[in-house]
Amino acid sequence: MSKKRVVIIGSGIGGSAVGALLAHTGSYEVSLYERNKLIGGRFASYEKDGFKIDIGCHLIANCDKGNLGQVLRMVGRPDWVQWSYAARPAPTINFKGKRVRFPKDIEGLNLPPDEVGKILEFYGKAMSIPPEEYDAWDKRSVYSLMQEYTKNETVRAVFGLLSGIFFVISDQETPVGEYALCSKQMLMNKATGYPIGGTGSVPEAYVKSIKTDGGQVFLSTPIKSIAVENGRARGIILENGKKVDADIVISNAGNKPTVNFLVGREHYRSEVLARLDKYEYSKCVSMMRIALKQPVSDEKMVMFISRDDLSVLEQERRDGIIADVLTDVMCPVISNLDPTACPEGRQLIIAGGGTHPMPEKPDSAWFKKLENSMFNAVKIAYPGIEKHIMWTSFTTSREIDNMFGEGGNVIGIAQKVGQVGPDRPFLTDPCVKNLYHCSADSGMHGIGGELAADSALRLFELLESK
Ligand SMILES: Cc1cc2nc3c(=O)[nH]c(=O)nc-3n(C[C@H](O)[C@H](O)[C@H](O)COP(=O)(O)OP(=O)(O)OC[C@H]3O[C@@H](n4cnc5c(N)ncnc54)[C@H](O)[C@@H]3O)c2cc1C
Repeated sequence: MSKKRVVIIGSGIGGSAVGALLAHTGSYEVSLYERNKLIGGRFASYEKDGFKIDIGCHLIANCDKGNLGQVLRMVGRPDWVQWSYAARPAPTINFKGKRVRFPKDIEGLNLPPDEVGKILEFYGKAMSIPPEEYDAWDKRSVYSLMQEYTKNETVRAVFGLLSGIFFVISDQETPVGEYALCSKQMLMNKATGYPIGGTGSVPEAYVKSIKTDGGQVFLSTPIKSIAVENGRARGIILENGKKVDADIVISNAGNKPTVNFLVGREHYRSEVLARLDKYEYSKCVSMMRIALKQPVSDEKMVMFISRDDLSVLEQERRDGIIADVLTDVMCPVISNLDPTACPEGRQLIIAGGGTHPMPEKPDSAWFKKLENSMFNAVKIAYPGIEKHIMWTSFTTSREIDNMFGEGGNVIGIAQKVGQVGPDRPFLTDPCVKNLYHCSADSGMHGIGGELAADSALRLFELLESK
């Protein structure tokens, strides 16, 4: 029997993972096209002065035990990525300059004594929700559930930070079901960590798997459009006008860009467009990479919180005010997770955060202020760090937007109340036959890269069941 020709647009986690899965069956002839020169979309990595730098990511929720590892297991190459867990030492919270291990040093948060019991009750409630009730709980926000237990602002600062870290949205937007599902998975797996060689090593392994199984991968090859004839995807059109025929087209470019730019809105029913237009993206973050002449920290992961007056902070953010010290900064010491991330004797720290609503037209001065505010946070989290700096590089959502579009957001279509479970965007295109969507947008559950891999696993299952 002749193989089905599959064309994939994009080498992000969703595109490269589904490509690897399909190529491995031997039933599909896979060709993947990526417009950038790097493999992996928001998961890609590159090198600078011997330091391995990730475009975006910091930490993977479940490493080999999660969806990313599942893809490798399914293609029979589980050891093509090595993982380093962020345990020993376990992640710490740096609360206003004070190091707090949770729950051991909880008194460091200076909470009234009865608040500790309330936190544990709230956490116990979320963790005890049975999976069959997640969809129902997804209609409520983490914030609204927490209000039933405590209105303490410090507690909210800590648990709100988790909403930001997991889903890059606020606790008022985060659905309880998805929060509980992801938290429980991480608690049970105890496999949060980082891939050796940088986050790019994951999509690179998937791409290697595609090629090993006879598929083709083209970098620096932007796709201009998807060829649609009589309501059916027939292939893709390259920028130079060349058509590549296909039986199946899979887009990793995101649901909105695929419909709006690659297919064209004229092919869609108005109710589909109305549903798609309503979806909102996760928020953006900025990142600072700090290359150090010598190690300044033996930690693997620090979550920095500079303040707990959240209602004041939220108003300041709405007013466009950037605080002198950024709050909510995630600071993995990448080279303590992966010693190959920097030359011997050096250290690499990444700081990510600053989920501000963007001004309409953020100018360089706005981003410079954000950079200073983040650096001030880093200096509190790692006292004396400035003496050891070789260089820092600051990446804003503007750069992420230039590379991947979608306003430079972190995750893709946000997992907020009203946009999770059965309300996630479509895997199977509702108007164009033989066209499928595979990215974090169309993933059902999971955090960041694992949400994108979830989309690949589900799409693979769907195509194999046909
Ligand atoms: C700053 C930042 C920090 C993050 N931190 C984490 C983290 O700590 N942990 C975590 O798990 N996740 C994290 N994420 C999120 C995670 O990176 C994304 O959710 C995930 O990688 C998205 O994968 P995707 O499959 O949706 O594809 P994307 O990464 O969006 O890739 C899509 C690909 O399609 C390509 N493409 C688009 N259009 C075309 C076209 N016309 N022709 C050819 N190619 C095209 C793009 O160039 C891109 O390579 C972070 C992201 C960012 C930006």
